[in-house]
Amino acid sequence: MPIDIAFADRIQQLPPYLFADIDRQKKEKAAELARAGSALIDLGIGDPDVATPADIVAAMQQAAAEARFHRYPSYEGMPAFREAAAGFYKQRFGVTLDPDREVVALIGSKEGIAHFPVAFVNPGDLVLVPDPGYPVYATWTRFMGGEVHYVRLRRENGFLPDLDAIPAEVARRAKVLWINYPNNPTAALASRDFYRRMVEFAAKHNIIVASDLAYSEIYYDREPPPSFLEVEGAREVGIEFHSLSKTYNMTGWRIGFAVGNAKLVAGLGKVKTNTDSGAFEAVQAAAVVAMRSPQAVVDEIRARYRERMEALVAGLRGGGFDVLSPRATFYCLIANPAGLSSVEFASRLLQAGVVGTPANGFGPGGEGYVRLTVCAPVATIREAVERIRRIRL
Ligand code: PLP
Repeated sequence: MPIDIAFADRIQQLPPYLFADIDRQKKEKAAELARAGSALIDLGIGDPDVATPADIVAAMQQAAAEARFHRYPSYEGMPAFREAAAGFYKQRFGVTLDPDREVVALIGSKEGIAHFPVAFVNPGDLVLVPDPGYPVYATWTRFMGGEVHYVRLRRENGFLPDLDAIPAEVARRAKVLWINYPNNPTAALASRDFYRRMVEFAAKHNIIVASDLAYSEIYYDREPPPSFLEVEGAREVGIEFHSLSKTYNMTGWRIGFAVGNAKLVAGLGKVKTNTDSGAFEAVQAAAVVAMRSPQAVVDEIRARYRERMEALVAGLRGGGFDVLSPRATFYCLIANPAGLSSVEFASRLLQAGVVGTPANGFGPGGEGYVRLTVCAPVATIREAVERIRRIRL
């Protein structure tokens, strides 16, 4: 007799999956195209399509053969890894970090973003979450019994939160504020000036700032995007999550780190000692090679995305679509043509043979847009543009 198995409330209370119908259409369309000798073009997922650079792979191959890396890692990361992460921050952002107290290794930044609320959110605590935004911020707040207050990111504000519009009572109650620039899904950037205002706001209301900097190296402006930790006072209020996934095409390797306020880093570390046993040290050794390299490979990766992004944006604008100018990341938002919801627009794209993500999947504030990625060769992007331009609206 099977027993009666019930999901815990936190799983049952996960928001409903919005795109089951789109998924069904995707399967049908893929089968139809396959019969005609063609295929869907998937611009839905944010996952680099190009291999990890060869020197990083070679470092991993060598490290994987070393017995000293075969044992349990330390949860906080090898000293060499933490020093390399601190070195990267010094070189790239001019931020000095203590590798022993202000850096912790993560099994991909998603792991740290998920575990952070375990250390700092009590039941009933209020957490400010950008809308639209990476869904993990809200999910794990709720898993911990915290309350999510969505902070709307609007096109007319450059997709930055309007701090002055946050009600006084909400600011008084808030414990954590999530920010993410370069932003997924809007491809917007934040300036140092914005970060200064953010620190002032956080200090005034005693709010922890959790900054997600996963896309710092994928940018299209001449100036590289800043880190939140560059501004004065940031270390007193915040932590920043960083990832090697996008910078070095390493999404499958699961390696990242968190830096900033020593108490915030220590709290996250306490959760990790009680959860995982750290990232495989051979992966950490390869990550050290990645972070210590002259970064020419990152210039190449960035140039490739730029070429693709220019093809996508120019092509779609030429077809009359309202494409928001992506300043960073490998994402691009297209405003829905008049009269269509995000799901309806994604469905029209699908019928044309292109997969995109309805941006309301990132929160209600994403309604009005579909997100496309440039994680596909430029010829494929051009073909996608042609397919989309053939849609009769
Ligand atoms: N933050 C944002 C905004 C993301 O889009 C992603 C992944 O797509 C992550 C964090 C997690 O990246 P990783 O766990 O690979 O470091």
